[in-house]
Amino acid sequence: MKKVFVIIAIIIAFISCESGNETKQTAQKQEKKTVKVPAFSGDSAYYFVKKQCDFGPRVPGTPAHQQCAEWFVNTLNRYADTVFVQDFRTRVYDGKVFDGQNIIAAFNPQAKKRIIIAAHWDSRPYADNDPDEKNWQTPIDGANDGASGCGIMMEMARVIKSHRIDDNIGIDLIFFDMEDYGAPKWADESLHDDLAWGLGSQYWSKKQHVDGYKAYYGILLDMVGASNPRFPKEYYSQANAAWVLNRVWRTAREMGYDEHFINEIGDPINDDHVYITHYAGIPAIDIIHLVGDDDRTSCFYPYWHTINDNIEQIDLKTLQMVGNVVMKVVYNE
Ligand SMILES: [Zn+2]
Repeated sequence: MKKVFVIIAIIIAFISCESGNETKQTAQKQEKKTVKVPAFSGDSAYYFVKKQCDFGPRVPGTPAHQQCAEWFVNTLNRYADTVFVQDFRTRVYDGKVFDGQNIIAAFNPQAKKRIIIAAHWDSRPYADNDPDEKNWQTPIDGANDGASGCGIMMEMARVIKSHRIDDNIGIDLIFFDMEDYGAPKWADESLHDDLAWGLGSQYWSKKQHVDGYKAYYGILLDMVGASNPRFPKEYYSQANAAWVLNRVWRTAREMGYDEHFINEIGDPINDDHVYITHYAGIPAIDIIHLVGDDDRTSCFYPYWHTINDNIEQIDLKTLQMVGNVVMKVVYNE
């Protein structure tokens, strides 16, 4: 994904009107009995992250990309009630055409109240933020940028399979393809276009896998596996879905994670959640590792779009923390 400074005005129009209901919903929730949240294993999530990295960079058009898609679908078929594969064909920034696959693992597909957890599963073809220029055309493992969120979702699928969530709550784990094929820094200025990022989520957000699909809200996971992460409240998430953001951050605070789920507004990031909100009309937030103002080459986690975004950066404790928070949020719906 990419940091942006524009389109704020368009997006603001989608600001949720539901924040006023938050107090009422919170009061109702307090009357409910405490829900037992099944144990999420950071260890198992780590295994799922490593498994993706072991295929090699999941760059569209490569065997690793295809093999990883097959592994997702086969594994998710053992866990989820229904697995949808949404095939699409799309053009990237330089005119090349690729076949992409969004993969959706649905639990309780009959439930009207649905929650989306999403991440992107492709990896970037270029390490164009690497300090060493000779790596700028090298594909990245994307252990954190992509695989970490998908690893957490795979572990969620494994756990939900054996600890059924309330029948009235539907969960859709959406694995977006073609998120990270935007123009590299070294490409001609004329090729740079914000809409060249998040191609899979743009496709899904305009045409969902089920006719008339609706969801209550969505949570995007992006770069959620590095040590000592810093998750401020990403700007568009705050603007478009403050009530979702507050629910997640409050849960994290109650669990003692407020050192990482920081109560401050972060940079605006043009990530998949923006399209979910903008095109599909579903309030969506982004849990994303953003660094502060000091000592940074980008606003993202330090190894973003470098050849060092590999399994060595993945910290089981972070996967555990994010998994705990998201599981608690969804099981308490
Ligand atoms: Zn990326």
